[in-house]
Amino acid sequence: MASLSKRVLDLVRPEVAALSPYDPNFTPCKINLSANENTYDLPVRVRTAINEAIATTPTNRYPDPMANELRDQIALWHGVHRENVCVGNGGDELLFNFFLAFGGPGKRLVDCPPTFTVYDIYSKMLGTSVVRCWRDSKTFELDMDALLPMVRTANMVIITSPNNPTGNTITHDDAARLCQTCPGIVMIDEAYIEFADKGISCEDLLSSYDNLVILHTYSKAFCLAGVRVGYVLAAPDVIDVLAAVRQPYTVDVFAQATAQVVTSMRGVFLPTIKQIRYERERLERALAALEGVQVWPSQGNFLLVRMPHAGIVRAHLRDKWSILVRDFSSTPGLDDCLRITVGMPEENDALIEALAAVLREVA
Ligand code: PMP
Repeated sequence: MASLSKRVLDLVRPEVAALSPYDPNFTPCKINLSANENTYDLPVRVRTAINEAIATTPTNRYPDPMANELRDQIALWHGVHRENVCVGNGGDELLFNFFLAFGGPGKRLVDCPPTFTVYDIYSKMLGTSVVRCWRDSKTFELDMDALLPMVRTANMVIITSPNNPTGNTITHDDAARLCQTCPGIVMIDEAYIEFADKGISCEDLLSSYDNLVILHTYSKAFCLAGVRVGYVLAAPDVIDVLAAVRQPYTVDVFAQATAQVVTSMRGVFLPTIKQIRYERERLERALAALEGVQVWPSQGNFLLVRMPHAGIVRAHLRDKWSILVRDFSSTPGLDDCLRITVGMPEENDALIEALAAVLREVA
């Protein structure tokens, strides 16, 4: 961000002046494996159904503010009630609303870095203090012995499962212990859950813990990153407060119609999800076989890798091979790390070939 002028500095709150915009460092490239999107196009049948739905969607009326038809569909899908569901303009908006509702001055968040950096941005923006419980520096597993005492005084806890960018998940037992110990709200951010093994989602704990919030998104497995729809599942009074702080019309008519089609056809996405999981294991093995490369196992659609000169390697991949991956090498705890989204087989092949060549060059 350009440095702020004195005029603006005098006008904004100090915590806003200290913020930098979220910057994924995007450069257009032939192969984009940088943002953990689903790199497959929408299945043709789904695209056709979306086109038909959108063609008859009126635009002159405001959208249903709470997206109730979509809420009902999501509720049916997850075996809960409409009152347990809140829809938002992507998971990001729901996270922001979570901070608006439960954070703010005098409130304390516990999170477990290295993790999704948006939590930090929103906590700064809304004046929430953050207590960090660092993950194990080698395995990136949660340190439950340190975490449990910390959450005893927390207003909010966020655990990302699968964790972005390390791929770890939380067990049901640990999630339950957090809900029992924390007097505040425990969010499990499951943006990548559809890529994880069966049974990893903590959504079945919702019936036992009324302080649990589960975040899901259509951006990853369901190919809708550009459309911006996510949802949370939680107890009705938690949903009520999230509904109270949300802007009324952020999920527009096209987004609602699209998400409804995708929800009703969600089974069509299963083969691609299976393929991405298969490719994740293949890519992991291929990367691990490269000299000097360390790869962590992942339950998401991405792999975290460490190698010497990672920043230079990333720049070579981008500039010489037109392949974009995400640089985490200057993120605390992630020295020399890159995050690679698992793409289609031919994209993964291209990445493996390019990386092998770049590593020979920079060695
Ligand atoms: N949570 C995590 C862990 C993420 O990585 C992302 C996207 N990068 C989100 C939430 C939000 O995704 P979206 O706003 O596209 O739903």
